[in-house]
Amino acid sequence: MNTYARFPIALVRGEGARVWDADGKGYLDFVAGIAVNSLGHCHPAVAKAVSEQVRTLIHVSNLYHIEPQARLAKALCDHSFADRVFFCNSGAEANEAAIKLARRYGAEQAQGRSEIITALNSFHGRTLATLTATGQEKIRLGYDPLPAGFRYVPFNDLDAVVDAVDERTAAILVEPIQGEGGVVVPDVAYIRGLRQLCDDKRLLLMFDEVQVGMGRTGRLFGYEHFGVEPDVMTLAKALGGGLPLGAMLAREDVARSFPPGSHASTFGGNPVVCRAGLAVMETILEAGLVENCEAMGNALRQGLEALAQRFTFIREVRGKGLLLGLEMDRECGSMVLECMKEGLLVVLAGANVLRMVPPLTIGQAEVDEALEILERVLERV
Ligand SMILES: *Cc1c(COP(=O)(O)O)cnc(C)c1O
Repeated sequence: MNTYARFPIALVRGEGARVWDADGKGYLDFVAGIAVNSLGHCHPAVAKAVSEQVRTLIHVSNLYHIEPQARLAKALCDHSFADRVFFCNSGAEANEAAIKLARRYGAEQAQGRSEIITALNSFHGRTLATLTATGQEKIRLGYDPLPAGFRYVPFNDLDAVVDAVDERTAAILVEPIQGEGGVVVPDVAYIRGLRQLCDDKRLLLMFDEVQVGMGRTGRLFGYEHFGVEPDVMTLAKALGGGLPLGAMLAREDVARSFPPGSHASTFGGNPVVCRAGLAVMETILEAGLVENCEAMGNALRQGLEALAQRFTFIREVRGKGLLLGLEMDRECGSMVLECMKEGLLVVLAGANVLRMVPPLTIGQAEVDEALEILERVLERV
């Protein structure tokens, strides 16, 4: 169906940070499937793991133990706050699972509380519950009646959250850094304040790390920037190295509200996607990609800040690691198109923000090349 306003090219091949279209034209890919291909396209470790697995066992039901799934769950828990993982197939489903867990936890362990507070300008997915959690009217338009039990407050405004909490509140769900909403990094005090508030009122703090998780911001998980841990976290995008894999992670005492039969997915955590996820996790750790992300993020950011000095229609450079946004004083859809013509793929985050989310594997030469192309395009604005 015609749900995507597509660019007039078809991408047919990818390698590292480059993709080629059906006419053979190459592009430097600073979209990376929107923060999915964090190891670059067709990384050999992912290709090898997946091809081995498809020759061994492609799918079995979650009625049985699945070795790659258990190994990936262990790797995620070993490197995060979490004790338990539920696997699914997308970011929306991961958040859907978090919403369901919060409601069950509220019913069983928190006096029947069920309301979830989310932030304005957030993005949590496109299922009915997750688009309702999403604090953007344009995403919810036309889908009434929506599920009840969500409340929105401005992002990065602790007082607004404090005021919104009442005896119905079960959880707070936020992106530790907003991606789709314009690449917005909140104050450390805000995220720490949310943690304190949740501790005081016995609420669940749930971080949607679908975009920022798995090294994207120069830390393995976004929450590490703030010195706090959530009770629940969702992952997807980069988790499966390009294969559809989502996860909802929680501490043991919270995960207890999900007993056998309370939630399920046919494909969630199947052997192939989890082998891909294991290859992603191992490569990120062994190849030092979090460190490379921080270094290349700093290099790219410096270059973008130099451009912002020169071109006054750039209002601000924002982000962390290799999740960077340029806020303009105008809509910048045409700049995205011009970059594409010049061989650089970038993506919007709201009408006025040009976003870059390249593979975490990029080097200085690719950063320089992207900056050169962007400069050429900005000179023509
Ligand atoms: C992309 C995204 C989602 C939705 O993920 P899908 O896999 O498209 O369902 C949810 N939350 C955040 C923060 C995202 O960036």
